Amino acid sequence: MTTIGFIGLGTMGGPMAANIVKGGYDVKGFDINSDLIKQHSQNNGIAAYNASEAAAGIDFLFTMLPNAEHVKKALFEKDGAVATLKRGSIVIDMSTIHPLETDSIREKLKTNGISMIDSPIGRTSVEAKLGKSLLMLGGEKKDIEKTSPILNCIGDTLIDCGGPGMGSRMKIVNNYMTTVLNVLSGEVLTLARAVGLDQKTCIDVLSGTPAVKSHILTTYPVKVLNNDVSPAFIINLALKDLGIALNLGDKVNVPLDLGKASVHSYKSSIDEGRGKQDWTSVFLNLQNRAGLSIPKKIKD
Ligand code: NAD
Repeated sequence: MTTIGFIGLGTMGGPMAANIVKGGYDVKGFDINSDLIKQHSQNNGIAAYNASEAAAGIDFLFTMLPNAEHVKKALFEKDGAVATLKRGSIVIDMSTIHPLETDSIREKLKTNGISMIDSPIGRTSVEAKLGKSLLMLGGEKKDIEKTSPILNCIGDTLIDCGGPGMGSRMKIVNNYMTTVLNVLSGEVLTLARAVGLDQKTCIDVLSGTPAVKSHILTTYPVKVLNNDVSPAFIINLALKDLGIALNLGDKVNVPLDLGKASVHSYKSSIDEGRGKQDWTSVFLNLQNRAGLSIPKKIKD
């Protein structure tokens, strides 16, 4: 039977390790919280009392830890996993960490003959318990293939993000969107309440427009990502509407911080001569400001 090592048995790691056990693997689990090691034993896992014990004699080591410093500690410091990990083994780091840290951890493991897959997780502990996480995989194809039977115990959606480090990059892009949208959702529902709208009516309306249907799935594919910035709705009018919302927010004392920050992108697009282009052309303004080339001819 294949034995797996698993370091970090917290909110996410605990249920994931349990699901790998249910998948028929022996899982040596370690956490600095000894209660969680006990819990892992109760889930039919094998208790390990430090990281190097969890990593001894195995081919696959999972880490699910809060941040990069914890991953580096578990792997490289005293009693760390690298002390016992075999050459040719694979570390699968599922923690959400800075992609440049992912790159440097991968390099360090490589000097020890160990491969790495970065595999941060989309969705929350609710899906982790059900074995239905989304995995954003960054690694060599052969390593991903070798590991996928175990990954299938954890997730129902495995996405190869395009090579080493790309899972970690994808996760940060994803979380930038979800964390900002979370605040935007809060701002929107607060403004709605402050101006006397019924919450259900508000959600019904938002669900029928790009507000909730999302720009990435609706307006961007037909306009700017289709090289077409001819106006369905122009930047000048979008900025006008944003201005009205900010003014209304001021009148009812609702702080619309994200809305205020967005003014800059619209104004900068207008300064670039895009006032009469489709509102999705803010994307082109941002590409320019990021120093990225705009490859295809835009029809405007
Ligand atoms: P958590 O704090 O519940 O679990 C982390 C565990 O790591 C803890 O049990 C802690 O004791 C243990 N730990 C810390 N340092 C250690 C070390 N050196 N050796 C062994 N164990 C150590 O956090 P979590 O919610 O499970 O999140 C883990 C990672 O997953 C984070 O990077 C988080 O951002 C990411 N994430 C969380 C969720 C979520 O819904 N909770 C969803 C997706 C991704």
